[in-house]
Amino acid sequence: MRRTISLFNTLTRRVEPVVPVIEGQISLYTCGPTVYNYAHIGNLRTFLFQDLLKRTFAAGGHQVMHCMNITDVEDKIIRDSQGGLSADAPNEARHAAMKALTERFTAIFLEDLETLRVRPADHLPRATHYIPQMIRLVQNLEARGLAYAREGSVYYRIANLPQYGCLAHLDREGMQAGASVDADEYERDAISDFVLWKGAKPGEPWWDSPWGQGRPGWHIECSAMGMELLGERVDIHSGGVDLIFPHHENEIAQSEGCLGHRWVNHWVHGEFLMVEGQKMAKSLGNFFTLRDLVAKGVDPIALRYAIQSNHYRKVLNFSFEGLRAAENALKRIRAFRKRMEGEGQAGGGPWKEQLDPMARLEQAREAFWAAMADDLNTPEALAAIFTLINDLNAMDDHVALTREERGAVLAFLDESDAIFAAWPHETENLDAEVEALIDARRAAKAAKNWAEADRVRDQLKAMGIVLEDRKDGSTGWRRA
Ligand SMILES: [Zn+2]
Repeated sequence: MRRTISLFNTLTRRVEPVVPVIEGQISLYTCGPTVYNYAHIGNLRTFLFQDLLKRTFAAGGHQVMHCMNITDVEDKIIRDSQGGLSADAPNEARHAAMKALTERFTAIFLEDLETLRVRPADHLPRATHYIPQMIRLVQNLEARGLAYAREGSVYYRIANLPQYGCLAHLDREGMQAGASVDADEYERDAISDFVLWKGAKPGEPWWDSPWGQGRPGWHIECSAMGMELLGERVDIHSGGVDLIFPHHENEIAQSEGCLGHRWVNHWVHGEFLMVEGQKMAKSLGNFFTLRDLVAKGVDPIALRYAIQSNHYRKVLNFSFEGLRAAENALKRIRAFRKRMEGEGQAGGGPWKEQLDPMARLEQAREAFWAAMADDLNTPEALAAIFTLINDLNAMDDHVALTREERGAVLAFLDESDAIFAAWPHETENLDAEVEALIDARRAAKAAKNWAEADRVRDQLKAMGIVLEDRKDGSTGWRRA
């Protein structure tokens, strides 16, 4: 059974059913990271919301083709990678320095996603591998009168595109015709012709182009990779709300200016995250990466749950209290799962209420899906699960559910876990894996390799395993 899922469309400002171009197949483009540093939990919130979106379509019977780019050439990357080079360093050395930085942080980013059980994208294009496509796109815009070159750079002429401003709902009166900006990021009140191709400045890596040596602007990267890998009509394009303007507005201008028709049907944006009621900032000491939290003993899956249990279009106030609540909620679902996996031992005395567990289960399942299909309403979907847990626990205390009923409940828990990825069936293999890691840590300690011992401990912590070193020298463990 294929379910219709509705999402809020930033283009129309309405919740609308997603009707894919090809029935049963969803093409999804999400703007990936700029890889020059660790992702913070605000960034990760966006990637977790997109994982939820993608998994909901997959669990709802759609095939999802997901493309997420890696921005590996950009102003901040150049700033952070070129410091160690002399002023006359050759271009090859500049590219190599840039690549060393971006490869390191791409690997770290992908590890973080794996720790959070975010499913990998089908396409993970690096911007630097698509320079010819970007150049062709800029040439195409030039040929259509939508771009002009000036001093080695190329700019988009927004006055020539009638739909410019459609996504961010801009007032065309406020646009500064003829003025141009070189920065990739700018405010709404600075709307003007934006840069597509940047002429090389001294000290920067460059590529050859019809306009001389230079490099792509940030916005053109996503248009080129998105059209190359997902085609001329894309079902869903997503990012954080901070990307609506100018990034996504400019992507529309570039792609639709070139195609001459609508490129993306549904634009979906996730809200940002605050920490303990404040904007996250390094100066406030409330700036966290995933690794910071894991080092504090936070279970990454509790973080995943804490983020996903809030609606993606509401500002999320991250707090350690909220994390504890998430841990407790997960404990409750996992304990229920264990109970359903067992045989059931009724003994709580006579049961007076009339409850048909199969009907109750079907009701919960429908409520769960109605909520998820309505713009990913996770708070309501999870409420349906908790009501089911309360009702069936109460019944199971008195009249043990049959094996068939328990099996049906477990199937629903699997179905919902395919989306939330937080209460999987835990196999004996996991225990064996934990034991093997504990042995590895013991061996590292015996060899006085403290760095390795710490690394293994952190890995176990990331799996949600708490170690207990005992007086007799042995090590016990439990799930956090
Ligand atoms: Zn993008």
